Amino acid sequence: MNNITYGGEEPIAAFATAPGNSALTLIRCSGKGSIELASLVIASDKIKNTPGNTIVHGWIIDREQRIDEVLVSVFRAPKSYSGEDSIDICCHGGVAAGKAVMAALKKAGFRDALPGEFTFRAFMNGKLDLTRSESVMELVSAKTEAGRRHAVTRLSGSLQKEIDEIKQLLVQVLAGIEIYLDYSEDEISPAMEGAVINGENADEAAGKLPNNDTALLVLSRLKKLSASWQLERIYQEGITLVIAGKPNAGKSSLFNALLKEDRSIVAEIPGTTRDWIEAWVSIDGIPVRLVDTAGLRDTDNSVEKIGVERSLSLLQEADIVLYLIDGDAGSGGAEIIEEIAGIESRNGKNYLFIWNKHDVSPLPQPFPAAGCVPICVSAKTGEGLTELSAAVIKMIYKQAATDGQFEDITASLGTERQKNLVESACAALEEALALAEAGEPLDLAAPMLREAVNALGEITGEVSTADILEEMFGRFCVGK
Ligand code: GDP
Repeated sequence: MNNITYGGEEPIAAFATAPGNSALTLIRCSGKGSIELASLVIASDKIKNTPGNTIVHGWIIDREQRIDEVLVSVFRAPKSYSGEDSIDICCHGGVAAGKAVMAALKKAGFRDALPGEFTFRAFMNGKLDLTRSESVMELVSAKTEAGRRHAVTRLSGSLQKEIDEIKQLLVQVLAGIEIYLDYSEDEISPAMEGAVINGENADEAAGKLPNNDTALLVLSRLKKLSASWQLERIYQEGITLVIAGKPNAGKSSLFNALLKEDRSIVAEIPGTTRDWIEAWVSIDGIPVRLVDTAGLRDTDNSVEKIGVERSLSLLQEADIVLYLIDGDAGSGGAEIIEEIAGIESRNGKNYLFIWNKHDVSPLPQPFPAAGCVPICVSAKTGEGLTELSAAVIKMIYKQAATDGQFEDITASLGTERQKNLVESACAALEEALALAEAGEPLDLAAPMLREAVNALGEITGEVSTADILEEMFGRFCVGK
């Protein structure tokens, strides 16, 4: 098993669905001769000669025993996901049927597919570029509707198109330099070099690359792409939102209200939530790991103490802290200002202050701490929760340094790998521009531009090495 590597054409098989109780299980097979090989275990005279894009009914047979009744989708190269001859075997669900069918296939000569091997083959056969291959994995692991939408946009080729367009522009800039470098020095004086290429006068061209405006346009498009990753990463990985505050402030109630189901213990006695409890929710399409902490207070109870310590370390991990003030604590003014001021001075940057129990104790007007007016909510009635979600989203956008115009971005990056390569291309282009500005000869800028073009080629997979591909596809799930 260890010496199996990506890149062959031999018949492979893998479960495409998770094992467990279900009506159906899908086993995917692909590779040269896979249809003939599968026909050894599928009792249907039609399989071998059936045209592509056809579904055939049959029985899986092992040692003359019927194993399962199946439907087989037959695809013939190049018209399949992987670009090879492939079949999808739809057998009965549950663990036993699929396992027995898989055993029969392996006995016939199929080997287990490596993680991502079907998509790897699709890439090698020119069915998908690398950005689209990666988006397949993004789609499979999307946590929210927005995450799915973004992955599908990339699967449809939006990022590939943007990268290809940027690369073409960059090649134009490079071609401008190459043309110049092809002239002998006595044909063009150095002072005229920009003018020859740009059609500008020599003074205007000084300190610029040929097609300098195009180079600047490329730079701005690359920077926009690079910035898109900050928020995209949040859509993929989510953020941690910790609910904190004194005992009885209503943390568990708010947790439940945000979750819209009663899962956390809600009780009158302070300190009931001794440990933390967490759940994933979607706020405006962003996956949010919502954490309800134990009450933060001085305590001698050792179990509670552990809870409080854990709460404190969760606060360190939090991207955003919702700090709940008990509006019904009765003290009103001075004490609350003190509570807010104390917390703000320690770590206020990612804190949102929430005034809870607004239904029974409205916020004092005017609020004494004018610089920090809390968001009023009632965890009990649900009042103010929309405003609270909006404030959370606003803070996420602020942290991701975007103005929230995310949906307008025509293409966004989907992986850290893509972001690193865009940044490499940016750095190389900036270096080329700086060299030109410093009046250095253009043959010094040319290699930088070539480096930038190569980095963009690596994003789509035009330029790639076996190592990079294996590392990348190795992170996929089996059966994809
Ligand atoms: P925690 O200790 O901070 O987790 O607080 P809980 O969520 O257990 O709430 C403490 C008490 O306050 C419970 O009796 C809740 O029913 C009550 N409570 C929580 N939120 C509200 C609210 O918005 N309005 C009112 N009237 N009572 C609330």
